[in-house]
Amino acid sequence: MEGTYDRRKRIRRLKKMIVGTIIAMVVIPVIASIILGIRVYSLQKEVMGLKEELTATRKQLESSEETGIYTTATVETSSRDIPEAAELAQEPEEDYSMYDKRIYLTFDDGPSRNTDKILDILKEYDVKATFFVVGKTDEESVRAYQRIVAEGHTLAMHSYSHKYSEIYASKESFEQDLRQLQEYLYQITGVWPRFYRFPGGSSNTVSKVDMQELIEYLNESGITYFDWNIASGDAISGQLGKDTIVNNCIGGIKAKQECMILMHDASDKNSTVEALSLLIEQVRSSENAVFLPITDETTTVQHRKAE
Ligand SMILES: [Zn+2]
Repeated sequence: MEGTYDRRKRIRRLKKMIVGTIIAMVVIPVIASIILGIRVYSLQKEVMGLKEELTATRKQLESSEETGIYTTATVETSSRDIPEAAELAQEPEEDYSMYDKRIYLTFDDGPSRNTDKILDILKEYDVKATFFVVGKTDEESVRAYQRIVAEGHTLAMHSYSHKYSEIYASKESFEQDLRQLQEYLYQITGVWPRFYRFPGGSSNTVSKVDMQELIEYLNESGITYFDWNIASGDAISGQLGKDTIVNNCIGGIKAKQECMILMHDASDKNSTVEALSLLIEQVRSSENAVFLPITDETTTVQHRKAE
């Protein structure tokens, strides 16, 4: 009797197990499907939301491109009909023929800690000048490029890296350096710069590439290069006194009508800053001269010309 009872119990237990297993096999997948279903639904909703956002952003981008906000892509294909340094620097063409001399103050190598001081003095005397700048990305430099443009000076190029060994290593590296600076300045100021000063001048003997090739490249790219015919002397290492700088300039101005003066905007060239107001005052008191920024009308001063 006991044996029969035991067997029944075991069978019942077995039945329970089978039923339990079946229930588990059916119920768990159902619950899982429901959970997954809900998840899929919410993800679909999220995707729809993102799609809408994307369309809105695209539309916004398109309209901002139309209104002139530029991207790197548009810079590459940028045409020359955008405002140029020359146009911004010089308002309606004026007649300067009543002056005996035209004086172009040009500052190489900036921006630097002295840029603001130079700009302050130029502003005080209402003189427009030309800055042949190099590539710097710190906040203060970015502000300096923008101030140069905003105050009506000509923003011109003097290579991105200013490293002779890199710029003049090959035609390709020269081009790459120049493009980098041109596009960079355009991006932060909205001005497409087209005036260039070769580091060391067009007659430098450092270049591994024939300078003639680089001159040709500039001509093909619509870029005009300017050397100088008066050296202020401030490039000499060690501090030159402000009086010497002024005298160097005045001596050169006496002998010329088109005066392209080479000066430097560098952190260690304080005497250039000190000489500036003195120079302007002395010129104004002794010469019938006008200070001008470089523009398309400026007579080029080139040590080495295209052959
Ligand atoms: Zn330089």
